[in-house]
Amino acid sequence: MVSYKEILKNCNICPHKCNVNRIEGELGKCNSSCKIKISSYFAHFGEEPELVGIYGSGTIFFSGCNLLCIFCQNYEISHLNQGYEISIENLSDIMIELEDKKCHNINFVTPTHFTFQIIEAIHLAKSRGLSIPIVWNSNAYERVETLQKLEGLVDIYMPDLKFLRCSIAGRLSTADNYFQFASSAIKEMHRQVGDLLIDKGLAKRGLLIRHLIMPENFSDSFEIIKFIADNFGTNTYLNLMEQYHPSFKSYTIPEINRRIRSDEYYKCIDYAKSLGFKRPSYIFY
Ligand code: SF4
Repeated sequence: MVSYKEILKNCNICPHKCNVNRIEGELGKCNSSCKIKISSYFAHFGEEPELVGIYGSGTIFFSGCNLLCIFCQNYEISHLNQGYEISIENLSDIMIELEDKKCHNINFVTPTHFTFQIIEAIHLAKSRGLSIPIVWNSNAYERVETLQKLEGLVDIYMPDLKFLRCSIAGRLSTADNYFQFASSAIKEMHRQVGDLLIDKGLAKRGLLIRHLIMPENFSDSFEIIKFIADNFGTNTYLNLMEQYHPSFKSYTIPEINRRIRSDEYYKCIDYAKSLGFKRPSYIFY
């Protein structure tokens, strides 16, 4: 296994391909050095019920981000990079601690820019007995070549498929080519783990796709739902999220400077239902 230190000397791990030396402290678009930085970790009860179970999802929030959406609800962590540095050994300790607290899984939130340090931490934690599923909770702006290094280590992929049109993605994030890479990334995730397998109410393995519905259909929700149906099938666990609210720099774009209306949300749900989506049942009842 090539050390993360070698890889980060010329960081190309996400589609931005910044070619920066993060070991020497150079920063790319994710604004992150080689040191792992997290903002918090805890048993999270706000995730999907199949991740939360009784004891919560063992969630670890990473600081920084490679996509930097202007409406980010966690902008203090992603844009402002708030958090504290930890070592690979510390990260493995945290994973073990969360399992000891009976969390049902380890849930890495915004992990992409630390992929190779996380791989080393997973190996270390598994060598110490970690056995609960690993969840990769990402924005999907990832390279297939990088995701291939996670095969056999990640059990549940939970990408948030955000935008479709380049013109929208370019206005709202750092990546106008977002959909080109995210669509390929999610195909690779699905190839590795298949549809979501749920046993006794708990997610064990597979793909869970999230999509945030925005005001004025700004995130092209209908086209995205159709894309998911056509490429992954309607057995896909599809969480269509309604919690958008203006945050950070949303005010700079009038169309997204408000919450979504219930009619906007239910049009998307009805459309997904009409295509045959049934999971999760609390949305597609
Ligand atoms: S992980 Fe960061 S430094 Fe590396 S290519 Fe992506 S944005 Fe650039």
